[in-house]
Amino acid sequence: MAVADQNILIIGSGFAAAVTVIHLVQAGIKPATITIVGPGALGAGNAYGCDDKDFRLNVRAALMWIWPEKRDDFGLWAKANITDDPEAVQNSGNFYRRRDFARYVKSCLDTVLADAGAPHNGITHHQQIVTGLGTADSGGWQASLDDGRLITADHVILATGNPTPQWPCRVNHAVMASPATAKLLVQNPWDGRWLDHVTSGSRIAIIGSGLTALDAITALARRNHQAQIYLLAPHGNLPPVQADWVKQGPPIWPKPPRPSKILRRFRSYLPDLPPEDSRWQAAFEELRIDINQQWAALNDDDRRRLMRRLGWLWSRYRYRAAPQTIAAATRLQQSGILDICHARLTAINPGDDTPLRLDLTGAAGEGRCLDVDYVINCTGAGQDPFLASLVTAGIGVADAFGKGLRVTADNQIIRPDGSASKNLLMIGPQMASSLGDVVAASEVSLAAIRVAGNFAEQLVGRGKRHDGGIDA
Ligand SMILES: Cc1cc2nc3c(=O)[nH]c(=O)nc-3n(C[C@H](O)[C@H](O)[C@H](O)COP(=O)(O)OP(=O)(O)OC[C@H]3O[C@@H](n4cnc5c(N)ncnc54)[C@H](O)[C@@H]3O)c2cc1C
Repeated sequence: MAVADQNILIIGSGFAAAVTVIHLVQAGIKPATITIVGPGALGAGNAYGCDDKDFRLNVRAALMWIWPEKRDDFGLWAKANITDDPEAVQNSGNFYRRRDFARYVKSCLDTVLADAGAPHNGITHHQQIVTGLGTADSGGWQASLDDGRLITADHVILATGNPTPQWPCRVNHAVMASPATAKLLVQNPWDGRWLDHVTSGSRIAIIGSGLTALDAITALARRNHQAQIYLLAPHGNLPPVQADWVKQGPPIWPKPPRPSKILRRFRSYLPDLPPEDSRWQAAFEELRIDINQQWAALNDDDRRRLMRRLGWLWSRYRYRAAPQTIAAATRLQQSGILDICHARLTAINPGDDTPLRLDLTGAAGEGRCLDVDYVINCTGAGQDPFLASLVTAGIGVADAFGKGLRVTADNQIIRPDGSASKNLLMIGPQMASSLGDVVAASEVSLAAIRVAGNFAEQLVGRGKRHDGGIDA
């Protein structure tokens, strides 16, 4: 087989998989050599595969790019193709619906594949889940699908994305065992389908206070929800609203990078202003510019040390909210429907007068119960069982936080003996523990460009551009 005909299997079907296809094909890889395995429309994934019109991108359009040299492409596409969303336009930028971003990704994919021309303009997409991966006799990989099929490939790219969130507490067996109560627990709210079943008189507990919680609140507000919504979070702070920040260059970081120095730089660089202020947010964005270089220079212990001290600030201010969602939450809070409870959920039990009774622990350690009809898990925290199986199988190594697999700066999976696997790569948010701040769509695009550049060099012998793209 000619090297250019080597097969590439992409496991996962979200944005990471779609941009990888786009950049691989633009780098000269034949579409017919690419196979995708993953549910749903290619490009939608957990992040953008939602129908609800209140689930919005949390950054303005110009930050949702596939090509760094065409950062306004989505904004231009949106102006030409989105005609039913006047609310997208806000003072701090245009915040479109996530489902519309999925449409944009599909249109880019269609164009790139069409440009690749016959007879190789079709990729293969199996809407299954990969349950296992092992080495094939050929020296490549063999993936097992949940329908029993086996697929072999010379190269595999893991793009499994954001794992399904887990319950952060004990869930009583009786609640799970009864179909009547099990359906009242929404473990993964990202696709928004649960909203079709909730009536406006249902008492709802939302677990977590991040962007997913805000999406849920916004969608309930639009549906004119009347009954109490309890938002359960130990600190109870909602994310700050995105301002119209404009960042300058990065700060000068102290050398050599150490957790204490990085922490001090954050403290000294952020101005003494509210986090909602555009100057504060601009400073935060400037700190992000070179943060991955700082991260790369730390060993595992230092990374854990840094996150113990900086993690709260990072998770609270890195992920800011679309203005529309904060406005909806404020409205519901003012009307008394949204009740923010500073409490941790410890157990979900069957209720007496309501289907569910929640055990909570308050800020001072005091216990209390809450009776509700639905519980929506908006914590976003989960473990990917497939990636865990690769650790068990000795194919990869767990990262410093036990969340994903260790990867090199070139996205290659690191084996237990420390060597890098040249034909097993990863793209997407699961690389965060290894590479740092790589969760955003734009960072995923950069990773796809890097991987495509390396493939092109390896498989079709074309040179790399400075940004990881390919010289024509
Ligand atoms: C709800 C949500 C909203 C977000 N909004 C934004 C935003 O507005 N802006 C931004 O920049 N970033 C946002 N992000 C960050 C997001 O991580 C990236 O932008 C990017 O979309 C990640 O794409 P992905 O394909 O890696 O992950 P995902 O979107 O999680 O998709 C992964 C896909 O792989 C599939 N899969 C998983 N395991 C397997 C398996 N074993 N076999 C086959 N298929 C599998 C999943 O079913 C899913 O379809 C958001 C993330 C989430 C979760």
